[in-house]
Amino acid sequence: MNNCLFCKIINNEIPSEKVYSDEEIIAFKDINPQAPVHILVIPKKHIDGADVLEKEDAALAGRLLLTAARIAEQFHLSNGYRIVTNIGEHGGQTVRHLHFHLIGGEKLIDSF
Ligand code: 5GP
Ligand code: ZN
Repeated sequence: MNNCLFCKIINNEIPSEKVYSDEEIIAFKDINPQAPVHILVIPKKHIDGADVLEKEDAALAGRLLLTAARIAEQFHLSNGYRIVTNIGEHGGQTVRHLHFHLIGGEKLIDSF
């Protein structure tokens, strides 16, 4: 029924290099890294994207950001990094399961 790639990663139907997991959230390395550190932080609950977050998801959305920041510390990104979420076709979202990209480990070029 659910044909979502990231739900399959959550269920270990597709392998991934996980760097964090708790009851609500997992984080794993992006298969096509855009920088030395490129990690995806996602809710275990399927949510299509940030555009369809509901009020009841507010705490979860906050914890996703907090988790990304804690992982950035673990990966020693003290000189800075980027947290990005793409939304829909024009936003460049290719996987329709909410995810925050944590990107860093080098000086990032301006993207917008
Ligand atoms: P989006 O383009 O939706 O913002 O980001 C989707 C991200 O998922 C891309 O950066 C892409 O490289 C990553 N990705 C796609 N398929 C896989 C996969 O099977 N495993 C992992 N680890 N990352 C994936
Ligand atoms: Zn999903």
